[in-house]
Amino acid sequence: MATKSLRRSTAPKASKVAAAKPGKPSAAKPTPSKVLAKNKKQGKPVAAPGKVAPTPVKPTPVLALKRGSSGAIRVGIAGCAGRMGQMLLKLLVTAPGVLVVGGTERKGSHVLGRDLGALTGGEPLGIIIGENPEPLFEQADVVVDFTSPAATAQHAALAAKAGTAHVIGTTGLDSDQMGAISRAAQRVPIVLAANMSLGVNLLEQVVEEVSRILDTDWDIEVIEMHHRHKVDAPSGTALSLGESAARGRGVQLRRVARRGRDGQVGPRVKGEIGFSAIRGGDVVGDHTVIFAADGERIEVTHKASSREIFGRGAVKAVLWAAGKRAGLYSMKDVLGFNLGSSSPTGV
Ligand code: NAD
Repeated sequence: MATKSLRRSTAPKASKVAAAKPGKPSAAKPTPSKVLAKNKKQGKPVAAPGKVAPTPVKPTPVLALKRGSSGAIRVGIAGCAGRMGQMLLKLLVTAPGVLVVGGTERKGSHVLGRDLGALTGGEPLGIIIGENPEPLFEQADVVVDFTSPAATAQHAALAAKAGTAHVIGTTGLDSDQMGAISRAAQRVPIVLAANMSLGVNLLEQVVEEVSRILDTDWDIEVIEMHHRHKVDAPSGTALSLGESAARGRGVQLRRVARRGRDGQVGPRVKGEIGFSAIRGGDVVGDHTVIFAADGERIEVTHKASSREIFGRGAVKAVLWAAGKRAGLYSMKDVLGFNLGSSSPTGV
């Protein structure tokens, strides 16, 4: 659902050519020491592990996508010390055709000033973790973002300003934050998905189809369980599944959603789509959609046992987003099974 095409830069700025010269095919994945040497050669901020690098010189923002089809993709990680951030760091430093160029963390984080590579016990990358997202968006072709809703909305504006593709996994976005992302998507490609796993995106298609076939004699309920640290409920994935069910039924979720029941709630209203959230332990993410009628019940379930499934999906999204036209895309676009009816949801 691209909405606006981007003007592409014909000559990438020297300060941004961190990985490969334009026109040259991607070389093999640079080793950390090569990255370190490359960054030094190009005057990028480098530092010995444990030492703070000088503040990077701020390049002029461009309103064009910075990378064409050749060369390694320069990737920045917002929220690099988070559960997903660390997972992505591990996957991205070894991903072919990718050069990790930076990572940010929130103000006050104990990892600020540390080497990004050392964060996950790897070799130093010569990249210091900073708190200012602006240089990150200016240096990267794609920034992958699993942070907080407020940070992500701010990041989307920076992505638009810098001409950087933005891959967003953050959930719990409110309508203002979604508005900020939609505005940014008029200028740059943004992939937004509350769940980046192949299985859940396929489940959403299945739920939409099942709900298209069944009438409102079938009650739809979405149940999710997550680890005790999760801060938003119901999960973004549960809401996406609810959106899929509503779409299949031809109704708007906000008109039929029933988010949690407690006390004298009365009988179930026909046609509503209910949500229940359970929190506990280290559960990565379980989602079940129940279609319940008189005398029979259909349940479709996805269980994530490793957060690597989200990380692998996010890496696919990073590779896919680089060089795309401006627009707001879903994981189904990335995975190639968008049947045309779905749209990204991150709320
Ligand atoms: P987490 O709390 O472990 O990590 C979030 C990180 O972002 C933290 O390290 C935090 O300090 C950092 N952060 C917060 N504000 C920041 C800022 N302004 N700048 C830079 N960094 C900042 O959480 P998590 O489990 O990694 O999940 C992060 C988000 O991703 C949540 O919204 C979660 O629901 C979502 N998530 C999505 C998927 C998916 O597939 N789309 C999968 C897992 C988690």
